[in-house]
Amino acid sequence: MIELRQVRKTYRQGGNQIHALDGIDLHVAQGEFVAIMGPSGSGKSTLLNVLGALDRPDHGSYRLGQDQVGELDDDAASDLRNRRIGFVFQSFHLLPRLTVLENVLLPLRYARVQDPGAEARARALLERIGLGARVGHLPGELSGGQLQRAAIARALLNRPALLLADEPTGNLDSKSAADVLELLRELHAAGQTLVLVTHDPAIAAGAQRTIHLRDGRVVEGAQ
Ligand code: ADP
Ligand code: ADP
Repeated sequence: MIELRQVRKTYRQGGNQIHALDGIDLHVAQGEFVAIMGPSGSGKSTLLNVLGALDRPDHGSYRLGQDQVGELDDDAASDLRNRRIGFVFQSFHLLPRLTVLENVLLPLRYARVQDPGAEARARALLERIGLGARVGHLPGELSGGQLQRAAIARALLNRPALLLADEPTGNLDSKSAADVLELLRELHAAGQTLVLVTHDPAIAAGAQRTIHLRDGRVVEGAQ
């Protein structure tokens, strides 16, 4: 479902060139659960941004399903993001003045589509994730683990082909992290394609496959 070929991304820092991604070849099949690990500065966030169509490779190709993502213009990339990709962040990114339910419904506004089934779907997702009793609460009233589960529900609202998570357990205690991992594993068992970045070997061990990056290259696990 995902195919990266010789993807490069170079940044300029002062007079230097930084090869954040230095020729990445990567294949992820539909329904796979892949963890990306590597030291700080090895290119993990850049790779996730490329996979999420937030950032374009300077060189090489990225195919997501039928779409050649690197060739899309900004509007088409944004549309692809809204319709096909869900994002989960370390810091949850829930809006503090909206209820849990309103937060989960946010992707609808971004996608600017009429979707009369969305609220029922949001409620069902929250129920499934164990937050059925929290739909009307504000984020400030929830624990970290609950916040991340709500953020995962939001990421799933538009039924994304690909769920991306950047250190989704990085701000959680180990019990909450284990709960979030369990949820991700359930999603995987239900067929969701999942790519996450993590520093935590226990989280990576819950994935099907781990890709190790170093200096913008895959050093282990490309296929
Ligand atoms: P990781 O997520 O593994 O810590 P990153 O993908 O954030 O690594 O960064 C890879 C390299 O690219 C690092 O050397 C980083 O400093 C550099 N880099 C990332 N984003 C930018 C940017 N917007 N401008 C300049 N350099 C960047
Ligand atoms: P974390 O909590 O994991 O540190 P960051 O704020 O660093 O999250 O965001 C990770 C990456 O996702 C950044 O490169 C940022 O540009 C991008 N990003 C942040 N907010 C959004 C958003 N609402 N939608 C899409 N991408 C986002």
